[in-house]
Amino acid sequence: MAKGRRKHVPQRTCIACRRIMPKRALNRIVRSPEGVAYDPTGKAPGRGAYLCNELACWQKALERGALERALKTKLTSEERIALLTVAEQICTVQT
Ligand SMILES: [Zn+2]
Repeated sequence: MAKGRRKHVPQRTCIACRRIMPKRALNRIVRSPEGVAYDPTGKAPGRGAYLCNELACWQKALERGALERALKTKLTSEERIALLTVAEQICTVQT
């Protein structure tokens, strides 16, 4: 079970801005048989994609197809709206 040093922090890339951050600092979107949704636990089974806390990244990922490419699926308009609603709640607002 050698997995390197125990201090290793999992790193993930925001699919919109490509910044690499600790997994915990990013928000996971998961594609499950029920569809595409925000995964607040970060542990839901299925293919995942990560976005940082910037609303612009969520908008870019949703509107320019980056999320669809990352998850290899098509988003319904309901899923898109639901994810944008989540984004507005969790994202840091830049002033
Ligand atoms: Zn980002």
